Amino acid sequence: MSNQTVGFVSLGCPKNLVDSERILTQLRVEGYNIVPSYNDADLVIVNTCGFIDSAVQESLDAIGEALNENGKVIVTGCLGAKEDEIREIHPHVLGITGPHAYEAVLDTVHKHLPVPKQHNPFLDLVPPQGVKLTPRHYAYLKISEGCNHRCSFCIIPSMRGDLVSRPVGQVLSEAERLVNAGVKELLVISQDTSAYGVDTKHRTDFWNGRPVKSDMYQLTEALGELGVWTRLHYVYPYPHVDNVIPLMAEGKVLPYLDMPLQHASPDILKKMKRPGQVERTLERIQRWRRDVPDLTLRSTFIVGFPGETEDDFQMLLDFINEAELDRVGCFKYSPVEGATANALPNPVDEAVKEERFARFMEAQQRISAAKLQRKVGTVQEVLIDEVDEEGAIGRTKGDAPEIDGVVYLNGESAVKPGDIVKVNIDNADEYDLWGSKL
Ligand code: SF4
Repeated sequence: MSNQTVGFVSLGCPKNLVDSERILTQLRVEGYNIVPSYNDADLVIVNTCGFIDSAVQESLDAIGEALNENGKVIVTGCLGAKEDEIREIHPHVLGITGPHAYEAVLDTVHKHLPVPKQHNPFLDLVPPQGVKLTPRHYAYLKISEGCNHRCSFCIIPSMRGDLVSRPVGQVLSEAERLVNAGVKELLVISQDTSAYGVDTKHRTDFWNGRPVKSDMYQLTEALGELGVWTRLHYVYPYPHVDNVIPLMAEGKVLPYLDMPLQHASPDILKKMKRPGQVERTLERIQRWRRDVPDLTLRSTFIVGFPGETEDDFQMLLDFINEAELDRVGCFKYSPVEGATANALPNPVDEAVKEERFARFMEAQQRISAAKLQRKVGTVQEVLIDEVDEEGAIGRTKGDAPEIDGVVYLNGESAVKPGDIVKVNIDNADEYDLWGSKL
């Protein structure tokens, strides 16, 4: 083991975690030793998040903590795009780079901590899929960076720029490596998965010698051939999404779509600068459900957006009651520094936001509880995430890790993480299921 040691702090969303994994993989390949404490580290890398104000503060605090505890700190990630803001508070960091700047991070490391000489990449055991910070049996697959939308509440495009899709051959090779290394579930992520390949005019690339177009359908179809669970996140309900529904009906990819819709009132969607024709979305959802009866739909919404009237909010409630989405996240609107929505008139009172949030959650919990109740008595395939002395915890095809519910298998210890088992569902509440292994 080398004496050159690096500490790593990873903040933010799953997308940031993928960047962390790649940097860690490279460091390990070069022979650095990754250590879990400030004291043992020669320097510390902080991979920051800058999505909302509280994340910015958390990132600045993490940099401050690393400087106090260790003194040699390299900053990367979303907040790194705002170098001046960081330097104003922490002038002594060694280097600052923006998101997905793997080479620049590595260059800064090399400058302050030379590559260990004794390392031999052929002898060191770096796991082929990289150093994972998540459980080994699922992995996030980032297919693009940036976003072409300009939603008024979001500063991602100004921080990460326009959409840049990774070549499809590269994405598929990475997916294949992950699967060969034992990954059982691939979580496809990007800011806008349905827009994949728009920037490259859906250029044809090669994977294992065969031509594949960089579009959502061909990417999804090829991922479906890998024989593991493939779950699609951040999919907008554009017409071409209809094309992937047959792949779900045929069992090639999971019958699951995560579609951040954000609102249902045309006025609010316009203020948010988001596309979305509610009637068409409802029609589309009904059609998808007819073709794939076990389809799980997940979405997120914002309540209390500037200018939201009681009528707008009622439209949102009507929509969720009609759409009966399976999994829903709800956020109370809060201004994000740099977002154009901050300039919109008629901000909603905090008490009204609270009250709407509570009404929204109550409605959704009722829907979710009823939907999960319908699963009682069915047999589901469950991917095991954790096992301890009390039993096992896993997920059905309808549950994404970290954001959806789980299945508790009380007393079941003859399974291990990564196993896929058949489970009879015995019980449900509004979020989770309980079952017994067949
Ligand atoms: S789609 Fe909208 S919310 Fe999502 S990253 Fe792009 S601009 Fe932000």
